Amino acid sequence: MLGQMMQQPLLISTLIVHAERHHPEREIVSRRVEGDIHRTTYKELASRSRRMAKALARLGVKAGDRVATLAWNGYRHMELYYAVSGSGAVLHTVNPRLHPDQIVYIADHAEDQVLFFDLTFLPLVAAVAGRTKTVRHWVAMSDRAHVPAEAAAKIPGLLFYEDLVAAEDDRYDWPSFDENSASSLCYTSGTTGNPKGVLYSHRSTLLHTFAAALPDALNCSANDVILPVVPMFHVNAWGLPYVACLTGAKMVYPGAALDGKSLYELFENEQVTVSAGVPTVWQGLLAYVQANGLKFSSMRRTVIGGSACPPAMLRTFGDEFDVHVLHAWGMTEMSPLGTVCSFKPAHLKQTQEQRYEVMAKQGRAVFGVDMKIVDEAGQELAFGGEASGDLLVSGPWIVTEYFKGEGGNPLVTDEAGRGWFPTGDVAKIDADGYMQITDRSKDVIKSGGEWIGSIDLENIAMAHPAVAMAACIAAPHPKWDERPLLVVVKKPGAEVTREELLAFFDGKIAKWWTPDDVVFVDAIPLGATGKMQKNKLREQFKDHKLPTA
Ligand code: ADP
Repeated sequence: MLGQMMQQPLLISTLIVHAERHHPEREIVSRRVEGDIHRTTYKELASRSRRMAKALARLGVKAGDRVATLAWNGYRHMELYYAVSGSGAVLHTVNPRLHPDQIVYIADHAEDQVLFFDLTFLPLVAAVAGRTKTVRHWVAMSDRAHVPAEAAAKIPGLLFYEDLVAAEDDRYDWPSFDENSASSLCYTSGTTGNPKGVLYSHRSTLLHTFAAALPDALNCSANDVILPVVPMFHVNAWGLPYVACLTGAKMVYPGAALDGKSLYELFENEQVTVSAGVPTVWQGLLAYVQANGLKFSSMRRTVIGGSACPPAMLRTFGDEFDVHVLHAWGMTEMSPLGTVCSFKPAHLKQTQEQRYEVMAKQGRAVFGVDMKIVDEAGQELAFGGEASGDLLVSGPWIVTEYFKGEGGNPLVTDEAGRGWFPTGDVAKIDADGYMQITDRSKDVIKSGGEWIGSIDLENIAMAHPAVAMAACIAAPHPKWDERPLLVVVKKPGAEVTREELLAFFDGKIAKWWTPDDVVFVDAIPLGATGKMQKNKLREQFKDHKLPTA
C-alpha cells in the first residue's frame, strides 16, 4: 500500500522560493571584490537568480550542462548556486587555489560550458582561457565599469554578469524534474593524483540541508547571522548557502578578505552569531583579536572542521572569547557533513575540563550518516573499544562513484549487500558514539608494527605557547621502520628549543609515542583547502636522519 501524500521532488529551487516568500527582507551582506560592502535581500537575490537562469538559457545552457565558478563567497556566487542548479544545469565550483594546469584539467574533465569568475581571477582566467576545450563563455562577475579594458581584451568574447542580469526580467518558473538529477559538482582537492569529481543530486543536497541545519548539527535558525569563512568552492561552503534559505538566516560573505582584521570587522559590524571554517583561518583571526585585546560581541559559536581542531584552539575560543566550538568532520564525498560534536545530556553535568575533552573529538553521526570502523580483515569493531580502525560511511548524501567512473567502484560491500564508502580516515568510536579521527590512513606512522596517531602529537605540540603550527610525519627508521618527526613553525618572536618541545610531551602520551626529533621550519605547505600537505613534508624530509637511528 502506498502512502497518500503529495509527490513533490526535492529540488534546490524550492529553497530560494521559500526564502523569498517567508524571509523576503532578510539581508545578505557581502564584502565585494570591488572593495565595498554590498547589501541585498532574499527577495532581490531570488529575483536576480531567476534573471540569471534566463540568461543561462539564452547562452544555450541546457539541463545537465556544467557551469563553472571561480569565485569567493559573495551574493553573486549565491545567485549562481540557485540559478544554475535551479534551472537544471550543474554548478561546478572550481577551487581557484589549484594550479592552472589542474584547473584546465578539471574544466576539461567536467566539460564546463560557461565559466563565471571574480575579478581577482582575471589573470588566472587569461592564462587558462586559451587552453580549455569546452568553455564557450567566460563571464566576469561584475559590471563592465570594473573590468580594466586591457585585461578584458585578453579573454575573447568576455561577458559581464551585470549585463546578463540586466538584459532579462524575472518572470521565470523554476522547472520541475527528477530529484535525482545532478545539481552540482565538486572535485576532491587531489593531494594525491588527479582530482576526482563528486556529483551531488538535488535530493542529496536537500536531505543534507535539512540535516545540517538541525540543533545538534550546525544549529542554524532564522535568528542567526551566519558568516561562512569556508569557501563556496570548498564542498559548497559545507552546505551553508542552502541552510541560509532553509532557515532564513542573515548571511554575511567575506569575499576575498580572509585576514584577521577584515573578518573581525565584518563579525562585529554585522553582528555575526555563527561562523564556520578550517583551523588555519581561525589562527589568523585569533592572533589578530588577541594582539589587539578585542572581544566578540555577538559571535556565539563556530564550526571547525576540514582538519582536526587543536584542543588549544577550542579552549582559547571558549575561555577567552566565550565562543563555543562545534568540531565537525566530513569530506567532499559526503556533501560534506558526517559528524558534529554536540553534547548529550550527560555532558551538560560535566566540568568544563571534561567537556573540552569531548569537544576535541569529531563528534557523533548526523542522522542520515551511518558509520562504522573495521579492522584490517574488514571486521566491524564495536563502539567503545580501545582499537582504531578504518572508518566507513553509508547514507543518502554519500558518493557511490566518482564522476565518469574515475578510479572504479570505490565502495566496499558488506555481507548484507550494503555499500560503504571507505573514508581513508582511521578513527575510534567511543561508547556514546563519538568518533575521533586518529589519522588519515596515508598519514599514519607505523612504528614497529603499531600505529602512532599523528593528530594527537600535533594537538599536544600546538598547545605549546611558542608553537604556531605543527605537523607530525613518519621518518624512516632502521629498527622501527618509521618514527614520528615533528615539524614546527614557531609563533613570531617566540623561542623554544627541540629539547623543551620534546619534554613538553612527557606524561601526556605513552613514552614510545614521543617524537624522535623536531625540525623548525618557516612555513608548512598548505593545500588548496588550507590543509597541511604532509605528503610534501614527507618528501622534503625523506632523508632526514633521526638522532635515534
Ligand atoms: P580532501 O580529501 O581532498 O583533502 P576534503 O575536504 O574532502 O578534501 O577532506 C576530507 C578529509 O579531511 C577527511 O577525510 C579527513 O581526513 C579530513 N578532515 C575533515 N574534517 C576533519 C576533522 N574535524 N578532523 C580531522 N580530520 C578532518
